[in-house]
Amino acid sequence: MPELPEVATIVGELDAVLRKARILTIENPDGGKTHLRAEIRKVERVGKNVVLHLSGKKYIVLHLRVTGQLIFSKDKKYTDKYKRFKIIFDKGALVLSDRRKWATCKIISEKELKQLRLSLGIDALSDKLTLAEFTDLLKRSKTSIYSFLLNQKRISGLGNIYVNEVLYISGIHPKTETSNIDKKHAQKLLKAIKKTITNAIEHKGTSFSDYKTASGASGGYQKFLKVFRREGEKCRCGAYIKREKNSGRSMFYCPKEQQVL
Ligand SMILES: [Zn+2]
Repeated sequence: MPELPEVATIVGELDAVLRKARILTIENPDGGKTHLRAEIRKVERVGKNVVLHLSGKKYIVLHLRVTGQLIFSKDKKYTDKYKRFKIIFDKGALVLSDRRKWATCKIISEKELKQLRLSLGIDALSDKLTLAEFTDLLKRSKTSIYSFLLNQKRISGLGNIYVNEVLYISGIHPKTETSNIDKKHAQKLLKAIKKTITNAIEHKGTSFSDYKTASGASGGYQKFLKVFRREGEKCRCGAYIKREKNSGRSMFYCPKEQQVL
């Protein structure tokens, strides 16, 4: 599933090619067409959303959900077997495809963009996410650290891949209650979040099955993952990585190095 590093990679590539591009048409999944004459001002990441800023204070919000791909091609005729939306520009085409058909594309107003920002917690990479703010958020929450980190209303950007990785790096068991995390562990965890996300962006994200960058390349961070989808494999400490279900998702952790605090 595309998380902050994957969406940031896509947004970086799209911002470089789409600034000043003129939109001509949007093709919808039902075959209908929306004609929209506007120019792209910039491309921004808001949480895990890709937001195209258009002239006339309109915005296109794209979300990849779990298996979506967003590919830009200079060829306006470019398409994909699982195409959902296609935005045709004077410079080429942007195709949002998804084999599960969950990916979304919406045109929104400035007010709706504001609401979208307000619906999300502090961005994992924001300077506003200080240790003081982080420990305060942990104290106020009454849930496991695993659920806390996945909740986009608390901190936005993290998903199942990076949540499992940062908990491993900081030696915290995913089932630990947030209120039991002391300052030392909170500091370790926050550092792990910032560092892991930054490293993953440098490697253009993690590709398991579906994720591709906007130019169609694969990410490279999967080879650095220590626990995610590594159940049954030997950890550096000699223990075997465990996988455990938690409300439909999988927690991956080292039973020896990650203790419930
Ligand atoms: Zn271990």
